Amino acid sequence: AAKRRSAGSVVGYEAQFSAVYHERMELLADLQVAMEENQFELVYQPIVNPSDGRTVCCEALLRWNHPRRGVIPPSVFIPLAEATGLIVPIGAWVIREACREATFWRSDINVAVNLSPVQFKDGEALIETVLQCLAATGLAAYRLELEVTESVLIEDAEEALSLISALRRQQIGVALDDFGTGFSSLGYLHEFPFSKLKLDRVFSRNLVGSRRSAAIVRGVVQITRDLRMELVAEGIETAEQLDSASRLGVNAVQGYLFSRPLSAERLRETINAPIQPTSRPPRRSGAVN
Ligand code: C2E
Ligand code: MG
Ligand code: MG
Ligand code: MG
Repeated sequence: AAKRRSAGSVVGYEAQFSAVYHERMELLADLQVAMEENQFELVYQPIVNPSDGRTVCCEALLRWNHPRRGVIPPSVFIPLAEATGLIVPIGAWVIREACREATFWRSDINVAVNLSPVQFKDGEALIETVLQCLAATGLAAYRLELEVTESVLIEDAEEALSLISALRRQQIGVALDDFGTGFSSLGYLHEFPFSKLKLDRVFSRNLVGSRRSAAIVRGVVQITRDLRMELVAEGIETAEQLDSASRLGVNAVQGYLFSRPLSAERLRETINAPIQPTSRPPRRSGAVN
């Protein structure tokens, strides 16, 4: 029975595969023109100090408003953009647009931009792009934070170190994103001059009821304090998770409990008001995710 089932699923898999493949090829063709057709949009999710509800930073998150398929999430199109190299011009647009938008916010609110490992590979081009964006928009360098994942550290540690160091010398923030999902060597924290660590949402999810998760978060709080790094807990969705995180000493959180990602326009209207945690955030008109 096991054999028959697996044989059946192989056929199913192939049919499925070709459908998926076909769809990918179509999306790929659409992706080539998405930029010139202005189909990309940045939405922004506040990162909040839970003690007063104030926004300390907003993370720019890329959306593709596809003319027929509607909004396509980054998990679908970023891998395509990376495979084709399109991520480089798209990524440059993201940095420029995020810097421009942040000039409309109070100067104590930073903006965070995600970088693909592909952008990270050409360090000199990246620095040039970033400095150009800052110069063109007039955003102060210290207000920009670039988020990278561990994968960029593994590929070429030496290159990554010199790039991160160069960015930090320019006062640009560099955050280690999704910490805890990869290899998460503590050695990385020692070796690379990150300004911020973002603890992946798996820890927030398990924070309530798991002493082991709590112990890890407590440890990370201590380590980032000692290393003078900022810490953000990602994916805080419930009041209980917030309560646990706060009690463990986490003083910056990001998640649906405070806000979903918002359109630039909506964010501008709300960014200066402290945010109250709301367990079931209403999908307001400006909420796009
Ligand atoms: P990320 O950098 O870790 O961003 C956080 C993701 O978690 C976002 O998903 C956000 O909408 C989602 N999120 C926020 N709060 C919560 C919560 O409380 N619960 C849950 N379940 N999710 C929450 P999004 O926007 O779909 O982005 C996914 C990933 O795509 C990002 O993960 C980032 O790695 C990548 N990405 C997004 N924008 C860009 C970009 O401009 N360039 C590059 N290279 N990657 C991007
Ligand atoms: Mg991120
Ligand atoms: Mg993240
Ligand atoms: Mg994450």
